Amino acid sequence: MRATGRSSIYCCAACRQREYRKRVAARPAVPVRLLMADLFAISDREVRKRGAIAVLQDLGYAVYLERDPRQPHESRRRRPPLKIVRDTRPSKETRADDPD
Ligand SMILES: [Zn+2]
Repeated sequence: MRATGRSSIYCCAACRQREYRKRVAARPAVPVRLLMADLFAISDREVRKRGAIAVLQDLGYAVYLERDPRQPHESRRRRPPLKIVRDTRPSKETRADDPD
């Protein structure tokens, strides 16, 4: 008999174990739990974002959630065309005495 601590809700270790096994079996499979965790993370991030926006707006800031429209244009900026550069250096045999 324990003098301290909360009283047990199970009559014995076997019953406690049986209830534990039942809870484990009722739990969704790992892939489902991972998906649920991802969905929760997305939802949580949105809630935090909305909270942050509300705080900024309360402080008098105008908050725009669109990306800077210049950014995609700049990233699509035409890059100089690539071309093959021939190796015009002398071959290794003829450079054998070269310190480099
Ligand atoms: Zn029992």
